[in-house]
Amino acid sequence: MNSSVTRMESEPATTGHSLKVASHYNSIREDGLAVRRRSRIVHMRNFNNWIKSVLISDTLGKVREATAGQAQRSISVLDLGCGKGGDLLKWQKGHIGHLVCADIAEVSVQQCESRYKEMKRRNGKIFKAQFIPADCTKDVLSDHENLRGRLYDVCSSQFVCHYSFESYRQADAMLRNACESLRPGGFFMGTTPDASELVKRLESSDGLEFGNELYSVRFDRKGTYPLFGCQYHFKLEGVVDVPEFLVHFPQLVEMAKKYGMSLRYKKTFSEFFEEKIADRQYRDLLVRMMGLESYPSERSRYPATDRTPGECDHHHAKRHTSHTAGVRLPLGMLSQSEWEAIRLYMVFAFQKDSHSTDLTQREENPNPER
Ligand code: SAH
Repeated sequence: MNSSVTRMESEPATTGHSLKVASHYNSIREDGLAVRRRSRIVHMRNFNNWIKSVLISDTLGKVREATAGQAQRSISVLDLGCGKGGDLLKWQKGHIGHLVCADIAEVSVQQCESRYKEMKRRNGKIFKAQFIPADCTKDVLSDHENLRGRLYDVCSSQFVCHYSFESYRQADAMLRNACESLRPGGFFMGTTPDASELVKRLESSDGLEFGNELYSVRFDRKGTYPLFGCQYHFKLEGVVDVPEFLVHFPQLVEMAKKYGMSLRYKKTFSEFFEEKIADRQYRDLLVRMMGLESYPSERSRYPATDRTPGECDHHHAKRHTSHTAGVRLPLGMLSQSEWEAIRLYMVFAFQKDSHSTDLTQREENPNPER
């Protein structure tokens, strides 16, 4: 990995699963918008992007509330497992001041940086950013020569935590990177597969595998689930096909305490959706992000093979429209299969205790930009 990032003592160089994960993500093509629009899971991707947008906007709102008295302080964010920069636009819309993007996949980090430069070229005024290739389950970000002394208001880790639960040391290292440089009151938030839902589906399946035509999950065994290294293989329409590990959430909550973090909430995607859709601005955003198609959509004409027997595609749309005071949402665009995949995930948010004074003494790096 990058020579300017310090590796935790006695941690081997990126090997085994980390290497697999990095080369997998490095090899994913960056499809253009046209190709993405043709994907069978385009609506699910849009929905997941909406979840992330709401989570980001909500968290930045909380940071702003808490720092209202501090004149003009700009918000600093660590995007841990940034990928190709799928959230750059969300950070721009959130008017942050500084972003650090870290990821194990060097090619993704390069693409993220190019995307950022392109945004900067077009918009001029945009947050400052740094791009760090690093294995966040083994390297120490705060030791990086360009990051020393940098503090963050938010660490965002979207669809990443499950790669760290290979071992206690790796999960701890990821948490350290996520939390040690947060300001008191700062947030560590993200999205990850919901281990209880995965285990529930596994237990009610006949074999070691479950899923539908869009996704499949295969475990090596069932019945007992170790806290770390409980591996499964996740496949989603050509998006991910690498080993992942169950994130035993109560364990994560316990381990986070070491870094002065308290759990603020943990919600399934469905719960988070039900709660946030009540907010007018988020509802409008969902309509925009789902591609401006109106409900009922094209999808309602799709063949019944895309559906679970006995259920129709709009089962959830109907349920959700009734939950939202008759407001018609474009959720009919999501097939039953997409909903099944979406319901595998959860959002979480931790906050750094305000009495956590270990870092308050630290000086901000006077010149942390590259
Ligand atoms: N957060 C991005 C990408 C999610 S895909 C988004 O929401 O679009 C998961 C990302 O986690 C990949 O980019 C992968 O390279 C990264 N990742 C996996 N293991 C990692 C590790 N040990 N350290 C840093 N990044 C890791």
